[in-house]
Amino acid sequence: MTKARKALIEIITEAEAPLSAGDIHVLMEQRYDLATVYRGLNYFEKQGTVESFTFSCSREGTERYYYRRAHPHTHFFHCASCHRFISLGTCRLQDLEHQLEADHDVAIQEHTLYFTGLCSSCRD
Ligand SMILES: [Zn+2]
Ligand SMILES: [Zn+2]
Repeated sequence: MTKARKALIEIITEAEAPLSAGDIHVLMEQRYDLATVYRGLNYFEKQGTVESFTFSCSREGTERYYYRRAHPHTHFFHCASCHRFISLGTCRLQDLEHQLEADHDVAIQEHTLYFTGLCSSCRD
């Protein structure tokens, strides 16, 4: 594995919240160009180590965010005021999935879900 990819996967693994390619670029102290960051992200996503989702907010616009894949996966909360992502811990939707599968006669393979609102400091 190249040095750049090693650094990249370390940053994503240690992060508590999803990161954009721009965030990662900054965290890598810009030692590698943005194109290298994107190539690395594509590599890890194809490999299944990293997952991503597209999210829009008033400050960052539409952006893709990357995080380490885990089983069961984690859900995130985005604060609409300070634009932080907060981890909500591991997914607790298995029961809902089973119910939906039974109700609609489908086999669910995955779901994407995030929450938005105000964090505790912005609510006060
Ligand atoms: Zn906030
Ligand atoms: Zn889930």
